[in-house]
Amino acid sequence: MSSLSLPVCSCCHRHIMPNDKCVKFSCPECGTESATVWRCQSCRESATPYKCAACGFEGP
Ligand SMILES: [Zn+2]
Ligand SMILES: [Zn+2]
Repeated sequence: MSSLSLPVCSCCHRHIMPNDKCVKFSCPECGTESATVWRCQSCRESATPYKCAACGFEGP
């Protein structure tokens, strides 16, 4: 397998598969694009809180 850089879920820190119904958005607090929040399908469905890597903002 080639080393594809898969995004990592900001909630559970697992790699997000390309066929996963994930969501991606920038932090509502700081909006830093480099700290884009990823949420995998399971975390989205269970509304697991995420944490921004840039400012430490936690939210649903
Ligand atoms: Zn997750
Ligand atoms: Zn932030």
